Amino acid sequence: MIAILKSGTNAEQLENLTEWLKAQGLTVHISNGKFQTVVGLVGDTSKIDADLLSSLEIVESVTRVSEPFKSANRKFHPDDSVISVGDCKVGGGSFNFIAGPCSVESKEQVCGIAESIKASGATMLRGGAFKPRTSPYDFQGLKADGIEYLLEAKKITGLPIVTEIMNANHLSMFEAVDVIQVGARNMQNFELLKELGRTNKPILLKRGLANTLKELLMSAEYIMAGGNENVILCERGIRTFETYTRNTLDLSAVPMLKELTHLPVIVDPSHATGVSKLVKPMALAAAACGADGLMIEVHNNPRQALCDGAQSLTPEQFDDVASAVKRVLAALS
Ligand code: PEP
Ligand code: MN
Repeated sequence: MIAILKSGTNAEQLENLTEWLKAQGLTVHISNGKFQTVVGLVGDTSKIDADLLSSLEIVESVTRVSEPFKSANRKFHPDDSVISVGDCKVGGGSFNFIAGPCSVESKEQVCGIAESIKASGATMLRGGAFKPRTSPYDFQGLKADGIEYLLEAKKITGLPIVTEIMNANHLSMFEAVDVIQVGARNMQNFELLKELGRTNKPILLKRGLANTLKELLMSAEYIMAGGNENVILCERGIRTFETYTRNTLDLSAVPMLKELTHLPVIVDPSHATGVSKLVKPMALAAAACGADGLMIEVHNNPRQALCDGAQSLTPEQFDDVASAVKRVLAALS
């Protein structure tokens, strides 16, 4: 349920209303927008008398929100959420380039890539330390050492780091990580999501291989319901019958999500296509359809990569993609 307040409502009136609603067992979200204040109510709102609420002097209108996701719902928070990651702002009109190798392979590798992508305009460094691999015989990541090398690259370049968590028991290793990624395979690992909801870390939540947008938003809701509202959504392609590409990039997810939620939405054209030559056209299309950023795999030597070489760009190719994306953004502005 949401209540839109009349303009001119003062802080004391808002406080009284909030206390009254909280006393009825509800969680209250206040969104102070440019033009209006929206009070979002989460919990068992069936006990609330909507007519009584709308009759209050300060209340303009009351609406029941039918979607099962509440905190993530744009109706609760009409303005875009802006998530701060170091000096970067994600959402609300800024555009972020997150780039780096699929897996951290060595300190030299990740530091070298970090310097190149930074020079090309990347705003964050990605790299997997714990890798979700289809085969248990494939490289599983450097684990704690991988995180240490990412931190080394951050020290050199100042780029915030993004890396994936697969097990809530590993959380203590992620203390210095700037953005914790939840990969496609764990999008519905609800115990992991609940645990991340108890932190205040920005979470990059990737859409599952075969999940609907509603399911993605419900997973974001798990994190937000725990008190962590710093969620960035990522479209990374879904499973279809197509075999030329690794996944099918669902770009309509971007404008659809932007309508449904106030959370930032980025696109990963690398995992979406699995083919390096498709990364540039899909990156341009993602920028054109309103994404708040891109996550792109970049490797110093894709042919020798321990993971996802076929979809990885060289630093030179990333530089070309980043400048082409900037031209699209400039043309749209
Ligand atoms: C990744 O970003 O490294 C990754 C494994 O992606 P996804 O979870 O989208 O497959
Ligand atoms: Mn990868």
